[in-house]
Amino acid sequence: MAIAPRQKLRNCIQCGKVFLSKDREELCTDCRASYYQLEELVKEFVKDHPGSSVNEVSEATTVSKKLIQKMMREGVFMDVPMGDNFMYACASCGKPIKTGTYCTSCLTRLRKETQQAAERMQVRVKEGTSTIKRLDILAQREFEQEQRDRRTYRMGLTNVGRPIK
Ligand SMILES: [Zn+2]
Ligand SMILES: [Zn+2]
Repeated sequence: MAIAPRQKLRNCIQCGKVFLSKDREELCTDCRASYYQLEELVKEFVKDHPGSSVNEVSEATTVSKKLIQKMMREGVFMDVPMGDNFMYACASCGKPIKTGTYCTSCLTRLRKETQQAAERMQVRVKEGTSTIKRLDILAQREFEQEQRDRRTYRMGLTNVGRPIK
């Protein structure tokens, strides 16, 4: 089986089955199909048991911790009152958070870093453009030189009295 560049074999974060993941998809086809049921299951449980931790919710609903965390990251529980135990680790510093991928302080830091990286990229793009311009000028010069050569050649032909094509 050929695997396209954006595809890769990985384990489904819910059932653990190996599947061919496209565009970093984390769930296999089966679990994707039942995703909204799983989401509802977790939401209902959290509503009924507001003090539960991710571990407890996972055990009670059979939804994997990774999938619950994915739901939290994506803000599935925004309208569900979450207890202080229902948290997971910031992907950068490990501080407990309730939504998103990073805590607020890491988010601020990362935004700054991204901005700086973007600025560096822009400088590089500018440098890139001037290189292209230089290449254009060279190409233009070569073209003009060629035209001149051709003219000289034709003039040479005229001088010996042959017709110009
Ligand atoms: Zn699965
Ligand atoms: Zn953090």
